[in-house]
Amino acid sequence: MLSVDPETEILIPPAIRHERGADALAMIMRSGMLNKKEICMVTDYGTNAEMGLYYDGELYSGSAAAGPAMEGQSIKYGVLAAPGAISDVNMADDGLWENLVLNDKLIPLVAAKVDPVTGKEIRLLDYKAKGITGTGVVSSMAMGLRSGIIKLPDIDTPDKRIHLMDGVWFSEKDAQEAGKAMGAIRAGHRTLVQEVGIDDDDVKVMYMAGASGTYVDPIKAQICGMIPRRLDEVYQLGNTSLMMAHDLLKDDKTLDRMQDVANSISSNHIMFAGNKTFEDMYILELAYWTEGMSMEMYNDMIQMHGIAMLPEIKVPSKVVRVVKSDIPEIGRGFYSLEEVGMKMYGNFKGCTGCKKCEKGCPEKALTVSKDKGISIRSDLCLGTACKACEMNCPEKVFKFVSLEVRI
Ligand code: SF4
Ligand code: SF4
Repeated sequence: MLSVDPETEILIPPAIRHERGADALAMIMRSGMLNKKEICMVTDYGTNAEMGLYYDGELYSGSAAAGPAMEGQSIKYGVLAAPGAISDVNMADDGLWENLVLNDKLIPLVAAKVDPVTGKEIRLLDYKAKGITGTGVVSSMAMGLRSGIIKLPDIDTPDKRIHLMDGVWFSEKDAQEAGKAMGAIRAGHRTLVQEVGIDDDDVKVMYMAGASGTYVDPIKAQICGMIPRRLDEVYQLGNTSLMMAHDLLKDDKTLDRMQDVANSISSNHIMFAGNKTFEDMYILELAYWTEGMSMEMYNDMIQMHGIAMLPEIKVPSKVVRVVKSDIPEIGRGFYSLEEVGMKMYGNFKGCTGCKKCEKGCPEKALTVSKDKGISIRSDLCLGTACKACEMNCPEKVFKFVSLEVRI
């Protein structure tokens, strides 16, 4: 329930159709794709990759369950973007990998050069790396694939790890988790192309939205299958939903404009969950990213399903970051919440207060109070896919399912 003053005016932005919400409308309006002559694709990169292909006055859309890896989660050293996070890696001329770490203003700086095979490092700045963001995961995958260190599904180093600075490493399991997300996104994009009945070559312009879509290096994203392979132009848009919310509050004509655009779009939503083309492609993507199917075999198999093989990569000639940061303007009167989401609480009989659950939590989501009360921030917790807290409890009293949710 929303707790606000009864006099408060509440603006509810329109959806395009019931399955295409206001977030998709914001992405489309903020991109300007409706005015482009070329065939365009747009994707908001998150746990669900919301995507759309605009062709001949009609929006074909879908939503691929990419999972949390693109946000740095379900990755051993994955963290959200914060000071000390490795957000990018580049290959230097000497073959070492430059590790870019976010400073206090979240600006990425080259903090060390690291041999990804041995972990030997040359320190350039006095920063301590704490983990790796989703964009750092994409970079590590791209550099790993390009250099041949990643030979899917394996990492070809003696300890099967790609070493980054300060003991942060990227494992084979991490590569597979990231690969599942990348495969889902590529299968989604190509399903839209198939449904429209065009060729991969026909998609010329890509709009990337969301924090990951804004900060990731598009050339590395292309190596990893996250954007189409034959693009001319890429635009990185920022968080279009928040920007549109800001526009709504600043200018009361925005709501009418949104409704006009929503009314004018003819929309065709493709449910990937029940779509045979998506299913065929995603099975092959999983085989490629997680089971070692070669690209040659992938292309042979996909043609047996009547789908064109993947074209050669053509690097886009124009890449534009439209905004400086993913939320460029917050404005006066706005404030950002320190914490979002719910909290989960528990008090387990037999708990000794040893805090092993707290210490073993990879996301620092859990705290144990003096009276042995457990509280978990849902915005940080990885949920039942993790359950490290439950597994780490020496008394076997921690029961994730018994936690009580409070808003
Ligand atoms: S499941 Fe437990 S250990 Fe995992 S992130 Fe959530 S609170 Fe932390
Ligand atoms: S690990 Fe188990 S016993 Fe230790 S504090 Fe957590 S719930 Fe209690």
